Order: sequence, then structure tokens, then C-alpha cells
Amino acid sequence: MTRHIFVTGGVVSSLGKGLTSASIGMLLERRGLKVRMQKLDPYINVDPGTMSPYQHGEVYVLDDGAETDLDLGHYERFTSSLLNRHSNYTTGQIYQTVIDKERRGEYLGRTVQVVPHITDEIKACIRRLATPDVDVVITELGGTVGDIEGLPFLEAIRQIPLDIGKENCLFIHLTLVPYLKAAREAKTKPTQHSVQQLREIGIQPDILIVRTERPIGREHTDKIALFCNVEKRAVIEEVDKEYSIYEVPIGLVEHGIDELIIEKLRLQAGPLQMEDYRELIHRIRNPRNEVKIAVVGKYIEHRDAYKSIYESLDHAGFAHSTRVIVKRIEAEELERQDPELLLNGMDGILVPGGFGMRGIEGKIQAVQFAREKGIPYFGICLGMQCAVIEFARNVLGYPDANSSEFAADTQHPVICLLEAQKNVNYKGGTMRLGAMPCRLLEGSRSAIAYGKMEVSERHRHRYEFNPEYRERFTNAGLVPVGTSPEGTLVEVVELKNHPWFVAVQYHPEFKSQPNSAHPLFKGFIEAALQQHESSRSGSVGN
Ligand code: GLN
Repeated sequence: MTRHIFVTGGVVSSLGKGLTSASIGMLLERRGLKVRMQKLDPYINVDPGTMSPYQHGEVYVLDDGAETDLDLGHYERFTSSLLNRHSNYTTGQIYQTVIDKERRGEYLGRTVQVVPHITDEIKACIRRLATPDVDVVITELGGTVGDIEGLPFLEAIRQIPLDIGKENCLFIHLTLVPYLKAAREAKTKPTQHSVQQLREIGIQPDILIVRTERPIGREHTDKIALFCNVEKRAVIEEVDKEYSIYEVPIGLVEHGIDELIIEKLRLQAGPLQMEDYRELIHRIRNPRNEVKIAVVGKYIEHRDAYKSIYESLDHAGFAHSTRVIVKRIEAEELERQDPELLLNGMDGILVPGGFGMRGIEGKIQAVQFAREKGIPYFGICLGMQCAVIEFARNVLGYPDANSSEFAADTQHPVICLLEAQKNVNYKGGTMRLGAMPCRLLEGSRSAIAYGKMEVSERHRHRYEFNPEYRERFTNAGLVPVGTSPEGTLVEVVELKNHPWFVAVQYHPEFKSQPNSAHPLFKGFIEAALQQHESSRSGSVGN
């Protein structure tokens, strides 16, 4: 019988519920259990694909092309849980399914209601993951207890124990215990209120994880246990981590959370295997080098907009025992200021993906700086398209070269929509999405980094390298070294006679893990380390 763990959050949002759920998933996997992870998002958008990164951070793309919440990135970085479009449901999706059924007459004339029709649909989405080979399904509920839009989801998870047996379900609730400086005291009242709200709905949490800035100690956790009707040992404090988010699982193990869950759910599990992970944490805490990487983007001030990029840079740093210091540069700043002022001293420059015109010229300037000064450059999706535009303008000599996304009437649309893609104007799920195979040129930097010539990477874009210009680029030194298997779509370009200049149409950042960094990020940081060394020894003149 597959067991279900439900993770809810209270008091405030941004408690790191996704990270905690992923960490629990990791610990259970490292006890030999088969885990599936899932996130339910109460907002009405059908998926986050059409939401601005300002609203909701990055859109995380899965192999099957599902555009999902960024918490799924944590799941993939921490666990090997197979994720697909059933791993993330929103209110919008649930309603869409129910309304479609109603239109098809499947409810046989009955009144269609939140309870039981919406809640049944939510339960079906959760139970769908409980296939016989899976030991534990972890379902994280987005939002905060008390949100109006979260109510149908809470009602649905309240009902599941009635359907499959209370002993097969576990409720974990995450809250915040704030520290009031003026009173010099940690406050447990918000946690008490939040649990009260859950209990009103009919959910009694089995485990409470209390997030705190500093340790609060047994006195407080015992008090929380008493007021919230939870066992003392099941109130676990999760203190902010000093070095990195990857320490969260270690903190939870120290409080015995894996053992507690296994006991409460009566699971047959093996011993905890954490040696390699502890070794990773040691490396994270004791870097031997550091490099400075500029990330030039348009949503720079929003920490989560390029989440997977920052994580992947860190992973590559871990692989080289190197601390990666990221300088986040607003692309528009580069349009106003001398690039030298902003980019001088950087050991590598990365331009990530993006949509729309704003900041494009600044990104192109960043590419030019990297190309001319011989600074390692990594272009991702829009960052690749900018590299192509820059080269067309400044090397091929087409001053008006552009992407037809930004200048529909340019003489030189070096990035454009291919014939088959025209006439698409329904937004949402209309891009080239998900994992596609890519064939690499033997001996290219990318093929060497990957150690193979056939790779599969995830996509999320509409525009493509214009095949009409391929030869001109190749002859001038920006070489398409990766294409779709039949050779038509350009996936990777590399610049000849440059220390490291690789730009990809896909999103490698969705396939990097802390102890298995993505090969291209690893190659980029290695090149940045060399750049760092040579600039220190004063021989910058690549
Ligand atoms: N806007 C570009 C396109 O649609 C790039 C997309 C991206 O960077 N994800 O092709």
C-alpha cells in the first residue's frame, strides 16, 4: 500500500516548504524507499507558463514539456522522483477538467459542486501517483493555511485518510517561529493559531516543522507540542542554514525526521546512506577557490526568476570546490553605462533565457564584451540568440541583425520563427517545450564536456536560429556544433578562437544536481577558474 505524506504551510509564505518537502523526499530515498513528489498550487492559472517571473519566479520545465512551479526544481535537484505533468496541478487545471466533464455530460445531470466534484478531482490527481511500485507519495500544498483558494485542497487531503486508512497518511505542517528582538524571545503563538486553523478544517498535523532564524530549544518546541496536540519528538525545528540550502536534509536528519516518518507510516526501510552527501556538504563549506560570474538578465532583482541557473552555477562550483560569487546585472544598466565598469573583473558572463525586448541591447553588449575580451561566455536560450545577433552585427557586418521577436522588419532576421510556427497566437503551451534530442559535433567543446555526442535537453522557446545564415556563421567562426538529430534546428553554437564561448538554445539548468553538476556548467566554471588564474597572474591577453 502506497503511503501519502501531505505537506502544508502556515503563518507566512516563503518558508521553504518546497525545499523541506524535497529534503524529506531525499532522506526517504536514501533509506531505500521509492518516492514520488507532487505540488498542488491553489492559483487559477492553468500552469505558471503565462505568469511573469516577477509574480512567481522561474517556470520550471519538465521532460514531458510541462511548465511547472519552481518547487519542482527542488524536487529534481534533491530526489530522483520521476516528474511529469501529473506532478503539478493548479486550481485552474482541476476546474478545467471538471468543467470539461460537465460539458460532456459526464455528471448525468447532477449539480456540480466544490464538494464532492472538485475535491474528488483533486483526490484523483493525488492518488494517480500511488502506483504499486511507489512507497511514498509526497504532496506539497502551495500557499498558506487560511488562504481562501486553498480550502478545496485542504478538504480533499482531509478526506484521503477516510478513503485509504488513517495509518497510511501523514500530515506535516511547516510554520514560522519569529524571534522578536525587542522582547528577546521566540514567539510560538502564530504557530498555535495556524495549527488551530488546520484542526478546524479537520486536519491534525502529525509532525510540525518550525522554521526559525536561530535555535529555539526544547522549551519552546515542547510548548508548541502541548498547544498543538502533537508529540514532543514530532516538533522539529529547522533553523536557517548558514552555508547553503543543501544543508537542510542534514539538519532534518539530526532531528530524526526520517526515522519518525518511517515509524509512523510503518514502512520497511533500509539504513540511511548519506556518506557522499556529507562529503558534498564538506566541500560546500570548504571551497578552495572562488570565481566571479556575471549573470546579465532582466528579472535580476527577483531572486527566484533565475533559480535553476543560480543553483546550477553553485553545483558546478561544488564540483570544482569553488565558491561561485554571482554578480547580478540588470541588462538595461548595460545600455546606460560603460560595460567595462560593470563587467570588469568578471571571470565569466552568463546571459539566461527570457522573453520580450526589454534589456536586449544590454545583453548583446555583454556578449560583445565577453567575445572581444576573451571572457568565458555561457548563453542560455535567449542568451544564445543574443550571441548570434551580436556576432551577426559586429562580425558578419549586418548592423540591423536581430531576432524577429524584437524587430519584425529587420533585413537580417538571424533568429526567426520557422515556417511551421507562424500563425500561433494562443499563449500557453504553444512553444517548443520539453526534452528533445540533440546531436553534437565530434571534438566540439560541448561534446567533450558531455563526454558523448547524443544528448537530451529541455526546451522552452519559440524562435530559432535562421538556417539561411548557417554557412556564413560557420565560415566566420561561430559554429553550430549541436543540432536536432535530422540536422535542421541549431541547438548549440560555439565560438572558435576563444577560451570558452558556448551558447545553447535549450535549458541545461533544469538538469543539474548538487552532486552531479551539469557538464556545460561544469565546463563554464572550469573556464572561469582558468580566467581567474590568468587574470591574477596578469596575463589577461587572450
Ligand atoms: N524569447 C525567445 C524565444 O521565444 C527565448 C526564450 C527563452 O529564452 N526561454 O525563442
